[in-house]
Amino acid sequence: MYLFTPLQITIQPILPAWVSMQDFQAFKELLNTPKNIIIVTHHKPDADALGSSLGLWGYLKKKGHRVTVITPSDYPDFLHWMKGNDEVLIYEKSKKTAINQLIDSADIIFCLDFSNLHRINELGEHVGQSDAVKVLVDHHLDPEDFATYKFWSIEAAATAELIYELIMSLGDAELIDQDIAEALYAGIMTDTGSFQHSNTTQNVHRITASLIEFGADTHKVARSIYNSNTLDRLRFIGFSLSQRLEVLAGLNVALFAISKQDLAMFNSKTGDTEGLVNYALSIRGIVLAALMIDHGELIKISFRSVGDFPANELAQKYFNGGGHKNAAGGRSTKFKKLLPSFKSKLTSSSK
Ligand code: 5GP
Ligand code: MN
Repeated sequence: MYLFTPLQITIQPILPAWVSMQDFQAFKELLNTPKNIIIVTHHKPDADALGSSLGLWGYLKKKGHRVTVITPSDYPDFLHWMKGNDEVLIYEKSKKTAINQLIDSADIIFCLDFSNLHRINELGEHVGQSDAVKVLVDHHLDPEDFATYKFWSIEAAATAELIYELIMSLGDAELIDQDIAEALYAGIMTDTGSFQHSNTTQNVHRITASLIEFGADTHKVARSIYNSNTLDRLRFIGFSLSQRLEVLAGLNVALFAISKQDLAMFNSKTGDTEGLVNYALSIRGIVLAALMIDHGELIKISFRSVGDFPANELAQKYFNGGGHKNAAGGRSTKFKKLLPSFKSKLTSSSK
């Protein structure tokens, strides 16, 4: 016997503020008949990119569509448990002409967890040129104007949160099963830093409660993502902390600079550097943390900040990147490659 009526967590299909009614009706109708659907997400997908994609994949398949998830590049092993992982097409590793044909014949292309076509590398050109209806679902700043339907909110902690709300708004709560719930939960869990970042809103907790109602095994998801280290990875983290972490005292900045050789020494695989930047941010008093990884052609940079420091502005202005206020990233070409553009100034300067 309950003393009180148990709380009904499942949210009724009310249209969230970030969806315009006009868009939504047309979008809903579009999904009423079977379509060829492609879902693409960003380069080096994280748990939100892949979780929102595979959550949506599971849902759309149940709705009777033909659905393919395409990622520009591979992603960490610790995401391979998600249902549908075996069917993901990795552009870099596949026959590109076959994937380009799939894109050309798609009726709808969902673009998840990114706002600018350059985030999907070469795929961006094909997606941009395709005649398919494009649907953007994302929570990053300044979306590029390429989509027919834009389901976009920077208030959302994760794209998975938006996918959940879309499915609920479409009145399809009963289609959310354990696999879909776990993929979406993974996205929310990681994009909120395990419910620690300031984006962990009431809505986040309501939605995750609801995902648990739908069968998500939160312990399994957390274990799969966080407790699946290889010894190499742990040794790499230890090495980076002791040998590669630098604190710029007086500036409240901490940074890691990781070389190609460092990566090779620990047999580094995709995902092994994920989360490393957070150790730099965890130092008392640090406002900005950076992780620079030399991949040869490019140096990939991750930024994390606390409070008002806009990491995304820094990434956008100087590193051809972007992101959120407190978590951003970008890239830089090698210093040596930049030098020719300064050649005249360098050679004409008197010593
Ligand atoms: P991470 O440091 O985990 O790679 O990325 C953190 C966040 O920064 C991502 O969620 C994404 O929003 C943004 N980000 C990372 N790399 C890039 C980039 O090259 N371009 C843009 N526009 N955003 C990036
Ligand atoms: Mn995200």
